[in-house]
Amino acid sequence: MAKKEKVDRRTISIHCAKCRTLLYKYHKGGRGGLVKCIVERIVDDRTHGDLRCHECGQEFARAQMMSGKPAHKIIQGKIYTKGMSRR
Ligand SMILES: [Zn+2]
Repeated sequence: MAKKEKVDRRTISIHCAKCRTLLYKYHKGGRGGLVKCIVERIVDDRTHGDLRCHECGQEFARAQMMSGKPAHKIIQGKIYTKGMSRR
């Protein structure tokens, strides 16, 4: 049986840079930095859906359409990620 190539996708955690609260868990594909979150790939959403940290109220993303799908464009410096592999 032929071995299938493993899809480069993993779950990362997205935290508020200000108070370190967990905001999302997200299925990230590909490599490189996180610029946007496609809403359907958010696995676990801890926010109230208003693109603000539920703890400190900081705005961390802006709603945008990405190829016909709703996405959250990350405001750089407002969040940090955990679980990104460095290969
Ligand atoms: Zn916060």
